[in-house]
Amino acid sequence: MSPEQTPGKLLIFTAPSGAGKTTLVRHLLQKFGQLAFSVSATTRPPRPGEEDGVDYHFLSLEEFRRRVAEGAFVEYEEVYPGRFYGTLHSEIERIRAAGRTVVFDIEVKGATNIKKHYPEDSLAVFVAPPSREVLFQRLRDRSTEDAESLRVRIARAAEELEYCHRFDRVLVNDELPAALAEAELIAREFLAI
Ligand code: ADP
Ligand code: 5GP
Repeated sequence: MSPEQTPGKLLIFTAPSGAGKTTLVRHLLQKFGQLAFSVSATTRPPRPGEEDGVDYHFLSLEEFRRRVAEGAFVEYEEVYPGRFYGTLHSEIERIRAAGRTVVFDIEVKGATNIKKHYPEDSLAVFVAPPSREVLFQRLRDRSTEDAESLRVRIARAAEELEYCHRFDRVLVNDELPAALAEAELIAREFLAI
């Protein structure tokens, strides 16, 4: 980091699976060059089209455990049974050192932990679906999960919806164009541009 550069801030998007975090985050990353994505590590297998090092760092359970023991993670969670996800210190530091704002797509407990680590520099946005029924329908329509994984995600999503009041902002993702515009407004305000 050059002496005149201030470290970047942290913009966190959190929500139950299927609420639309990934859709909103991808849009913002495309729109604002000041933002860079914190690529998490996970032990879940890649979905078709997902790239190692871009969408996630895909690790074996053994490798993930080794990184935990090394202290490589700011936070990690067993989000679904046997499926670990975690935020690497190295990702956050690399992006901040370049003076860019780190963007997260992360479940509610991880988001709470990131906020605790960076209380001054972070903003956490909870993406809420218009209703539970719409959320579950979006998860089904995404067609990325088998029946068991879908069941587990729906059960967890119902629990996660209760967390919305813990975050700085709530963004209701009903009509997509309106939600994208609101996400842009939040990002502009946070980046002060
Ligand atoms: P998350 O990252 O929170 O799990 P995604 O961004 O993958 O959620 O969105 C879940 C599914 O819902 C995807 O198939 C996505 O295309 C769709 N989706 C996202 N936002 C909307 C919206 N406002 N209206 C309809 N479908 C949406
Ligand atoms: P998916 O399997 O749909 O990509 O992600 C499942 C859930 O894990 C999502 O809610 C996603 O936001 C969350 N997640 C992704 N990366 C991380 C991370 O680094 N830490 C935590 N705690 N959750 C994550």
